[in-house]
Amino acid sequence: MDKPQHRVAPGIGTPKRTQEIIKRYGFTFKKSLGQNFLIDPNILRNIVESAELDETKGALEIGPGIGALTQQLAETAGKVTAIEIDNRLIPILREILADTPQVEVIHGDVLEMDLPALIARQFAGCSGVSVVANLPYYVTTPILMKLLEERLPLQHIVVMIQKEVAERMASAPGSKAYGSLSVAVQYYCEPKLVCTVPHTVFIPQPNVDSAVIKLTLRSEPPVAVSDEPFFFRVVQASFAQRRKTLANNLTAFVGKEHREALVGLLEGLGIDPGRRGETLRLDEFAAVSEALLKENWIH
Ligand code: SAM
Repeated sequence: MDKPQHRVAPGIGTPKRTQEIIKRYGFTFKKSLGQNFLIDPNILRNIVESAELDETKGALEIGPGIGALTQQLAETAGKVTAIEIDNRLIPILREILADTPQVEVIHGDVLEMDLPALIARQFAGCSGVSVVANLPYYVTTPILMKLLEERLPLQHIVVMIQKEVAERMASAPGSKAYGSLSVAVQYYCEPKLVCTVPHTVFIPQPNVDSAVIKLTLRSEPPVAVSDEPFFFRVVQASFAQRRKTLANNLTAFVGKEHREALVGLLEGLGIDPGRRGETLRLDEFAAVSEALLKENWIH
């Protein structure tokens, strides 16, 4: 199939064009909304390429800013919907992207939106939908957990986030960065770090470095869990105090009166109660969760 033939304004994501646009519209950045605009065309290209889009696919962008990434997505995807919370940016985006009819800008807070309905409405007829975004750092985890927990029909989530958070999402058991966020993300997806990004490629520059992470949604979780909320409570409890052993953290969860039985339960599963939560694999957390569920110690 041919690429969509739409006229696109000259690249927004360069230092010069971004400064021009900011000046022309008298735009002032709101730190409270995590506004750090990307001004590196190579990184923009890298993000879009990682999302494996084509003209049959849809891209949902969260936080388009002045449209640097939106514009690149429009060149590759068949349909782009961009959700922006800052009402000052809506007329700017509509004007800058006026020649790209495949882009629709929606004003709102992504955390408040009915995303299953929005995806069904915006991307009917697309062969697949991916989220592609340079996320506002102050709400990265809530946004990603919303996307994952709502089990949205997504192929990939390719996002620029804080480097340290990306490392936590992609880290393996036994590593320092491994925690409840790693388990949650890896339960729903296969994470892959695409690249790290210095803070110098944004206007204004954030205080921290960033990374692009690609999350490929799993069709099914890699482990069988009969009660997901309970599984995640067990995971949280296992990491409650990182320096404590699994037995100690889980005793605080199930109650002191069950400590002896808990130690026996872990040993029965072949899990040393003296291990720390950060060494447990997903299948081990699932086994602990299933066994605890049967005991009925927690209500
Ligand atoms: N995509 C642009 C880029 O790469 O240059 C801007 C990225 S900037 C890091 C994050 C954007 O998300 C800002 O435009 C900000 O206004 C918007 N934003 C912040 N919180 C949001 C929310 N809850 N829902 C939707 N957009 C949000």
